[in-house]
Amino acid sequence: MGYIKINQDKINDKIVEQLKKICPFDAFVYQDAYLSINAACKLCKLCVNKGPSGICEYIEEEKTFIDKEKYQGITVYIEQRENKAHPVAWELIGKAKSLAKVTKEPVYAIVIGEAVDSIANKALEYGVDKVFVYQDDLYKDFNVELYTNILIDYKTRMNPNIILFGGTPEGRSFAPRVAARLKTGLTADCTSLDIKPNGDLIQVRPAFGGNIMAKIHTPNHRPQLATARYKIFNASNKEKPHGKIIKMDSSGISKDTSIKLLSSENKPKVKDISDAEIIIAVGRAFKKKKDLELIEPLIKKLNAEVACTRPLIENGWFDPRRQIGLSGRTVKPKLIINLGISGAVQFIEGMKDSEIIITVNNDISNKLFSISHYSIAGDIYEVIPELNKLLAKII
Ligand SMILES: Cc1cc2nc3c(=O)[nH]c(=O)nc-3n(C[C@H](O)[C@H](O)[C@H](O)COP(=O)(O)OP(=O)(O)OC[C@H]3O[C@@H](n4cnc5c(N)ncnc54)[C@H](O)[C@@H]3O)c2cc1C
Repeated sequence: MGYIKINQDKINDKIVEQLKKICPFDAFVYQDAYLSINAACKLCKLCVNKGPSGICEYIEEEKTFIDKEKYQGITVYIEQRENKAHPVAWELIGKAKSLAKVTKEPVYAIVIGEAVDSIANKALEYGVDKVFVYQDDLYKDFNVELYTNILIDYKTRMNPNIILFGGTPEGRSFAPRVAARLKTGLTADCTSLDIKPNGDLIQVRPAFGGNIMAKIHTPNHRPQLATARYKIFNASNKEKPHGKIIKMDSSGISKDTSIKLLSSENKPKVKDISDAEIIIAVGRAFKKKKDLELIEPLIKKLNAEVACTRPLIENGWFDPRRQIGLSGRTVKPKLIINLGISGAVQFIEGMKDSEIIITVNNDISNKLFSISHYSIAGDIYEVIPELNKLLAKII
């Protein structure tokens, strides 16, 4: 990677006009006789190659080569609240164990809190080699400043190759801060992770609105940081514990913080479609909200949760927590029935690992048919009443 250097001494109004015309991303900003380039720049280098000569230069940044041998271990950050671990941690441990088979690295976990011994023991049951525990009354609740200091301490002492975080609200605020402090990369919301034998993590996630799956590498920086959402990976199998719990001394870690938790309140627990075993997913084929009454017998008979595509959230028909997909929830139920859904990549990414997929759609080229175990080509307004009748007979 490099950057564009602007030779300010050669800038005048005419040159600025020329550069602004050339730049397809409108990235030049001219203020107080100083020309700068903002974040819209895509380093296409048109200004360098086609702009007035000698004004813009592309400067290649020197590559930093790191000694990869010095970085060892795939670490999973175990998020906890009220001394209960978020289950995404067990899934990340499952993934870390499969990656570690390739690189022959140890799998570690780190847990921060006030009284987190039972979480550390549970992590051992999931087969980690070491659990690093940072315990202090001050760490009772998540505090992004204090917790980041801990991760910096952990990195300094352990030099991990990889740190995995859950793509939860906490992980999404924590991991970027850690990455920035460690001056390393972070790939958020990975949908798949793989690894090269040299320890380079291959981080896969949708990009450009889900139109491509980007493979992201961080070959010149360590540790490599990634987040993955709940239900993306399978939880690790439990095994006879063989690992150790290491209590970390936090006395030398800065406890200065400008964040003060005044109060916290548990939100009333709502059923989350991520945990549902049976889902009826509805799409834009439903012409009116009232038509959703059609699926009520299905929901009752199958004891299912209802979920939907994004347009139905935008219509205000459902609570946003019921949206499946890249900008919604990832689900992995035992059974999902898709009714009148086109199967846009953004939707499929959120449900493709469901155990049994049934799809009803009137378009035989529907993309969901190719990943479905059972497909019904037909009009939902005819098929659903038939399904209801059938279920009434057998259940
Ligand atoms: C950045 C970004 C993120 C996004 N994130 C998400 C996301 O997380 N989740 C999500 O769902 N979408 C997401 N989208 C939107 C996504 O691209 C699609 O537009 C959306 O999923 C389409 O919803 P749909 O299938 O309900 O509607 P449509 O695309 O309109 O499909 C309706 C389907 O119903 C069928 N149909 C119509 N009438 C009948 C009938 N009577 N009987 C049977 N079948 C019928 C049609 O053939 C069609 O297949 C995102 C888009 C962007 C750009």
